[in-house]
Amino acid sequence: MKKTLTALAAGAFVAGLGLASTAFAQDYPTKPITVVVPFSAGGPTDTVARLVAEVMSADLGQQVVIQNVGGAGGTLGAGQVATAPNDGYTLLLHHIGMSTAPSLYRSLPYDPTTDFEPIGLITSVPMTLVARKDFEPSTLSELLEYIKANGENITYAHAGIGSASQLCGMLLMNALDTQMTTVPYQGAGPAMTDIIGGQIDMICDQTTNTTSQIQAGEVKAYAVTTPDRLSNLPDLPTTAEGGLELEIGVWHGLYAPAGTDAAIIARLEAALQAALANETVVSRFAELGTVPVSADEATPAALTETLTSQIALWKGVIEAAGVFAE
Ligand code: ASP
Repeated sequence: MKKTLTALAAGAFVAGLGLASTAFAQDYPTKPITVVVPFSAGGPTDTVARLVAEVMSADLGQQVVIQNVGGAGGTLGAGQVATAPNDGYTLLLHHIGMSTAPSLYRSLPYDPTTDFEPIGLITSVPMTLVARKDFEPSTLSELLEYIKANGENITYAHAGIGSASQLCGMLLMNALDTQMTTVPYQGAGPAMTDIIGGQIDMICDQTTNTTSQIQAGEVKAYAVTTPDRLSNLPDLPTTAEGGLELEIGVWHGLYAPAGTDAAIIARLEAALQAALANETVVSRFAELGTVPVSADEATPAALTETLTSQIALWKGVIEAAGVFAE
């Protein structure tokens, strides 16, 4: 009898908790939300995050604050969110690196498929091959010959193992069967500063970071990594036009820690969709060479599907390249 009463009391307590959690989710958000960007401020992922966060903030009626946690190719920031409280107030905006890190790192302190609740895809950003403006080669074919001839005398910047710039550089070096000297940064923002300053030779980086520098003549641009030319950089040839087999689009997603209440995820999904349909976001993205995904892709299901298929795709490529970090 005593046992039954205890069980009943426990049941009532659990039911009470359930009600409290539903009420909590209905009120959400009641305070500012932090979105961790796992790279430095001023870089391409940061640019996407700040544009989207501004509209999400208006939609949610609470501040959405960006926190830059650069280092280890995005894995430090992602690891921080994996262990954050799953109350909807700490989120992660990460890119393709979410799918490459499991193959690149021998010991990754989180599992991208089980430690997060996907909220939705955001956009896929083309990459561009750019160099300091006084770098010797002038065209893509000259660049490819120059890399083959000068190899490790060339410095190639990237945002750490697991970043998109490292991935693109790895594909480039594999395609040419030539190694360059790689220089890691905490994000492509500071890497770009050093390319403009002439301390580093080149990088492959997202158009969200390179477009304005290319248009201002601050860097020399050689190619874009999409099958078609871009309307915002119409003179830039595609990698395929130059005979280089290197095609990549850097997709981005928004995540919460695993176990976040489904009602909170649904609220964030709606705010993300509102942001991606916003005219300012759409036109700024267009200026930067990209388009937001459609509403049916800014969903947990679409991000889960992309993450799973990209983990499988990059596993084969990375294992074949033999690149690993500890
Ligand atoms: N997205 C960049 C990269 O992966 C890093 C950054 O956003 O700063 O290279």
